[in-house]
Amino acid sequence: MKPWFRHWPPLLTKTLDYPRVPLFEFVETSARRFGDKAAIIYYGREITYNELLDAVERFATFLSNAGVEKGDRVAIYAQNSPQFVIAFFGIMRANAAVVPVNPMLVERELEYVLSDSGSKLVVATSELAGRVLPVAKKLGIQVVCGNLSDFIPEQPTLPVPDFAKLKIDVEGTTSWSEAMKERNPPEVMVGSDDLALIPYTAGTTGLPKGCMHTHFTAIANVLSSVHWFNLTPSAISLATLPFFHVTGMVHSMLAPVYIGATMVLLTRWDRETALQAIERYRCTHWVNITTMVIDLLSDPKIAERDLSSLLVVGGGGAPMPKAVAEKLYQLTGIRYMEGYGLTETISQTHMNPPQNPKLQCLGIPDFGVDALVIDIETGKPLPPNEEGEIVVSGPEIFKGYWNKPEETEKAFIEIDGKRYFRTGDLGYMDEDGYFFIVDRIKRMINRSGFKVWPAEVEAVLYKHPAVKEVCVIGVPDERVVEEVKAFIVVNPEYRGKITEEEIIQWAKQQMAAYKYPRIVEFDDELPKSGAGKILWRLLQEREKEKLEKG
Ligand code: AMP
Repeated sequence: MKPWFRHWPPLLTKTLDYPRVPLFEFVETSARRFGDKAAIIYYGREITYNELLDAVERFATFLSNAGVEKGDRVAIYAQNSPQFVIAFFGIMRANAAVVPVNPMLVERELEYVLSDSGSKLVVATSELAGRVLPVAKKLGIQVVCGNLSDFIPEQPTLPVPDFAKLKIDVEGTTSWSEAMKERNPPEVMVGSDDLALIPYTAGTTGLPKGCMHTHFTAIANVLSSVHWFNLTPSAISLATLPFFHVTGMVHSMLAPVYIGATMVLLTRWDRETALQAIERYRCTHWVNITTMVIDLLSDPKIAERDLSSLLVVGGGGAPMPKAVAEKLYQLTGIRYMEGYGLTETISQTHMNPPQNPKLQCLGIPDFGVDALVIDIETGKPLPPNEEGEIVVSGPEIFKGYWNKPEETEKAFIEIDGKRYFRTGDLGYMDEDGYFFIVDRIKRMINRSGFKVWPAEVEAVLYKHPAVKEVCVIGVPDERVVEEVKAFIVVNPEYRGKITEEEIIQWAKQQMAAYKYPRIVEFDDELPKSGAGKILWRLLQEREKEKLEKG
């Protein structure tokens, strides 16, 4: 066992003393304390805290000159990169709120998020310009484009993905260097309770919803991340999770900047690059999604790699299989710190204490979090070991869905005068106070931690003229946790004239790569309730049974 686990401070306090500041103050404080230290190492290029602060203030100046002000939203459509970090803090420093967009979204999906959020400007990386420019033109939004390669040194220390080597000046956009010209940031107009972020999550209706987070809700989770993971200024944190998603944003970007640690930033997950990064930079912390650990440990020569610098490995977003957690422990002496949370809770509401974790378990409630399991029908709290919906209340809970008051109302329940967020996850709490997930009430597929919402995929598939009826479900998969499968009833005139593979290829063009069904099955009919509703759960259970029988 790693020595710090034994000395890890017990949870003497239920809440933390959260600073009441806007998020960009993290950069200012760390620059004051550790100005010449690397905040980011990007394939060998070191960006110090002083340089980061300089860039953030320049970006804020540019935004302010472009007319961005308090109350505005600015989107980031980019992979993990120094530009992402600079834009993120720069937008907030310009008093606006960040709309982080998954860079895998295709034009149609991107257009929805940009127009729903009413983003005034979008920051993109140039290899994504082909997708963002037509949308931005249609919506009349200005685009700022940066090359990933601008931050990659001549002699990179780690293997660089091909797309990150591109150098393009995209016509019709403002270049990164143009945006960096002047350092004269506007007056600070925001406080900790102002809107800071609108990350999107999809929903049962098929339309993505923006989750409103303030500087404070984010800070609550950043502080708890620092405490749980024992993050110190000397930490070297390997950042492989995408920053557009709350887990990567909080644990791999905000927490290191808050404490003044160094992040080793990778633009794309790649096992060999991650291994080299850990060895070369002696990484101490690595927050990830389960599938990355599975991939890392499946390296045939993993036992020969030097993982001795690692002190903390943890994450969430998907269940960590017991066998993988055990393998990690055998290899490194590290107990995987599994956590649980949602976009609505800007990452974790539960975490496993490292000195006493349980396997394939969500953990115990986070600092300041009150979590219950309730009866789905009556809303009454249930005793330990009884299954029901997990509900949570705490400082990191979002303020509601952007422009969706009705959906917001439905997302909360009042119990004994207190408002709890309904997670839509089915679980139980054991007699020790640890929570476990057993199923989902909401229709959602967890593909490698990327959440796919069947209603959204079905809505797209219905646009294909051959599709008469469709039902999308998740089927268990060893590699990606759950795979997306579509059952389709074909319109009579298309019978025998179209194949499953053709539908898959068509769907691939219509939506982000993690969403389209990899498996399609044509059926004569789909099971329905008396009211004519397609019984998706029945199909899902049948598939599970089929797989279990082999
Ligand atoms: P997202 O909003 O993308 O962060 O997804 C949140 C959902 O991820 C939750 O509602 C859960 O269904 C799932 N999830 C998060 N953490 C875990 C975990 N440790 N084990 C199983 N599912 C998880």
